[in-house]
Amino acid sequence: MAETTVAVVLAAGAGERLAAGEPKAFIAIGSRSILEIAAANAEACEQVASLVVTVPPGTEEQARGILGSLSKPVVVVVGGASRQESVRLALAAVPADAESVAVHDAARCLASPALFSRVISAATGVDGAIPVVPVSDTVKRVVDGIVAATVRRQDLALAQTPQVFPADSLRDVHARAAAEGLSFTDDAAMFEWTGLRVVTVAGEETNFKITTPADVLRAGAVLGGDVDG
Ligand code: C5P
Repeated sequence: MAETTVAVVLAAGAGERLAAGEPKAFIAIGSRSILEIAAANAEACEQVASLVVTVPPGTEEQARGILGSLSKPVVVVVGGASRQESVRLALAAVPADAESVAVHDAARCLASPALFSRVISAATGVDGAIPVVPVSDTVKRVVDGIVAATVRRQDLALAQTPQVFPADSLRDVHARAAAEGLSFTDDAAMFEWTGLRVVTVAGEETNFKITTPADVLRAGAVLGGDVDG
């Protein structure tokens, strides 16, 4: 499918757990913002033709300034109240001739161009593809503070982004979920809900989601630069 892939980069979250006083995507890691790093990595993937970026209301101009250095076309749209709504709003700005869409959390700004490429290739001819990493901890099911079970670790994986799907099916599952008022924490979950098959590829340990101040420091260390703030 990968002839025309559009990257949807989600940066409309408030990032409340970072308590940085500004939206998470605008926080700097070294000399660049999380949004700039994420968008540059998506753009650097050869199969990505253009980008649609969701940002918090009122930050469109700031985002356009940050994204001005990209050489591929970028559309900035205001995101919604939830991640799922932000994807739905972004899809309205994805060109009609796009064959596939790579939905990516800007908060996972260290996802490499090679990872984008791997997931896009894996999504060819199937319902979708997502990167996953193994679970290294022992996982317990805990009920009312009491250990109820140990979950078989071999059956578990941690889902990352970019998640790549044919554009038509992604539009369709989002419309159906919105019509039924259902919320999902990632796009692959909607495909599971509709009975479609999503394949997995190896993710990257460095492709963690920046959520806490410690994650900002860790991302700075991975990039090998200074961390502002
Ligand atoms: O909140 P969470 O960590 O799940 O957010 C994952 C990604 O989705 C982040 O990059 C965030 O900016 C984005 N997001 C969004 N619109 C929202 C909430 C989150 O674009 N309303």
